[in-house]
Amino acid sequence: MIDTISKIKPSVRELRAYTLKHFEAQVKINQNENPFDMPEAIKSEVHRAISSKAWSRYPAFVPSTLISKLARFSGWRDDGILVGNGSNELIQAALLVTVEKGSRVVISQPTFTLYKLMATILGGESKEVLLTEALEFNVHGLLEAASAADVTIICSPNNPTGCVIELSDLKSILRTAAGLVIVDEAYHEFSRQTVVPLLEEFENLIVLRTFSKAMAMAGLRVGYLLAHPDLVQEISKAKLPYNLNVFSMAAAEAAIEHFELLKPQINWLIEERERLYGLMTRIPGVKAYPSQANFIAFETSMAPTDVFKSLYTEGILVRDISRYPMLGRFLRVSVGAPSENDLFLAALKKTLEVGR
Ligand code: PMP
Repeated sequence: MIDTISKIKPSVRELRAYTLKHFEAQVKINQNENPFDMPEAIKSEVHRAISSKAWSRYPAFVPSTLISKLARFSGWRDDGILVGNGSNELIQAALLVTVEKGSRVVISQPTFTLYKLMATILGGESKEVLLTEALEFNVHGLLEAASAADVTIICSPNNPTGCVIELSDLKSILRTAAGLVIVDEAYHEFSRQTVVPLLEEFENLIVLRTFSKAMAMAGLRVGYLLAHPDLVQEISKAKLPYNLNVFSMAAAEAAIEHFELLKPQINWLIEERERLYGLMTRIPGVKAYPSQANFIAFETSMAPTDVFKSLYTEGILVRDISRYPMLGRFLRVSVGAPSENDLFLAALKKTLEVGR
């Protein structure tokens, strides 16, 4: 009999899969989702649009209507935009066309797990640049590493810590980099900052965005990539044909058209993040880190696995991020609805009081 597993690349067999255990909970604040669903008015419009379409037909090969709306929405050119089935697909596509055996991939760590996983599967050598002790970007380290890298990946605001790269620092990195620089802006709406204006000046910049967080569409899987048109043309070779379905496309178009309905939710989430952060810093045994995203990373005097279990017993689901580099004592909480955040705060306080 063939040893089938031996046919899998050793570098892949060594990897831990990117996965998330499924837990049911009354308060689900573990995946940085928007706690306010898509406004009903937008949902109804999408339902109407989708009912009048033939489901038996393929979507357009190039979703040009959505792309022109995205161009206006983001302030970048139509031919420099690629849409994906979630930004996950675009991370994969961008790395598929750039990383091969021996490629040097610089990743600021701790960060979103998928970058290293994909780079490793493709045979890349990842070089990790750790954040500073204050959990800020290590600009000096990134500058040095990027100068010898094929691809440099920076998530800003960074998941799971919430820090943001300063535009002036990013400019220096883009100037010094020997290769491409990918900036994942999945959470940019919560920082009120974007690196998109730098695309004009820097042809080695690739920006990734998603509809899964601020845009309240995680269930529909839409992401987009912005870069110089020549790069977009190459990256598009690695995305699957018809990657976006007609439903997701209609929903993304409607979300852009009615952004005025989503904007107040985003502003509110930013305010609520600040309230949550302020109250977390007052809980003995908790050290919360400032964040520019819709989540907060926090360190606890108790073991994170015990904090996770205790909160879960109270019906609250957060994310245990203690396996990430540097974050051995950390958990991450997403900003939920006010009542959810209050339940979380009360349960966290109780957990740490009992644990002392
Ligand atoms: N980038 C970052 C930084 C993320 O946190 C996530 C979701 N966890 C993604 C990309 C993927 O998002 P999606 O595929 O839903 O667009």
